Amino acid sequence: RKGNVVITGASSGLGLATAKALAETGEWHVIMACRNFLKAEKAAKSIGINKENCSVMHLDLASLESVRQFADNLRRSGRPLDALVCNAAVYLPTAKEPTYTAEGFELSVGTNHLGHFLLARLLLDDLKKSDFPYKRLIIVGSITGNTNTLAGNVPPKANLGDLRGLAGGLNGIQSSPMIDGGDFDGAKAYKDSKVCNMLTMQEFHRRYHEETGITFASLYPGCIATTGLFREHIPLFRLLFPPFQKYITKGYVSEEEAGSRLAQVVSDPNLTKSGVYWSWNKDSESFENQLSKEASDAEKAKKLWEISEKLVGLA
Ligand code: NDP
Repeated sequence: RKGNVVITGASSGLGLATAKALAETGEWHVIMACRNFLKAEKAAKSIGINKENCSVMHLDLASLESVRQFADNLRRSGRPLDALVCNAAVYLPTAKEPTYTAEGFELSVGTNHLGHFLLARLLLDDLKKSDFPYKRLIIVGSITGNTNTLAGNVPPKANLGDLRGLAGGLNGIQSSPMIDGGDFDGAKAYKDSKVCNMLTMQEFHRRYHEETGITFASLYPGCIATTGLFREHIPLFRLLFPPFQKYITKGYVSEEEAGSRLAQVVSDPNLTKSGVYWSWNKDSESFENQLSKEASDAEKAKKLWEISEKLVGLA
């Protein structure tokens, strides 16, 4: 049988390119988990994904209720789950004021981290049951959360501090909307959420890899300067960012190339190692990359896991 893979945020950018790459192999049925059903269907059609190899299911990560419904609907569909890709994200670098999810969490961390945290926890049992040759849970990370890199050192830097804002509920009322308890900064909130994604992947690995055989991994696919992620940025930035990445930093990758990298992490029989953060070198070869001190802090990962469990209603 074909493998079944759920990709969140597959309506554009990296998620869409990955959906295409996996659907084209003929070995995967791709479930595009998207908040805008029509947009996702149109996107799949316009990029030429064969209808037989994909379906769209509604998922709004900014609502925990929607995440729970998605997990129920997936089970009802009767499709076994073999791989889950947590890819969707929002990035609000120019926002002056915080905005919030349905449950009142700051939107970037609420969507990128808490929505995915609940989704991955709910679907873990389904993944466990898969009889596919390999089963994987992939959470897309980023260089920007890694302060051991040049890109990760562009201010404002990621920093989760002692997680006091998160513990307080990130709601901007009793607590700060920022994980570290500081003033709202949209760019930092995104970077913080990516650190959470990378810490979560490692904590999953420590808790569940041995028992379940599931491969947990994260990756930095390269700088895909053309995706919708930068849609909220000022026009001058959007104009200059792609050539800057292409010619100056040389970190630029096309959406297609980035999609084939993520598809590799999902399905390449050689990339079965768990607990790993993958990157690619100049020749497009994958290698295990080092995470920053904070993004590999096991104690912080544990604390993040426990607070997140409470916030999403699992504990
Ligand atoms: P895009 O903005 O193109 O894609 C983001 C996707 O997330 C869209 O499909 C969007 O849906 C979806 N999404 C946003 N909010 C929600 C929500 N509440 N519920 C469900 N889906 C939602 O950006 P990219 O493709 O660039 O980003 C994909 C991933 O790649 C992210 O995790 C990002 O952090 C990571 N990344 C990107 C890099 C880059 O250079 N672009 C570099 C490193 C990592 P909709 O279409 O409805 O808006």
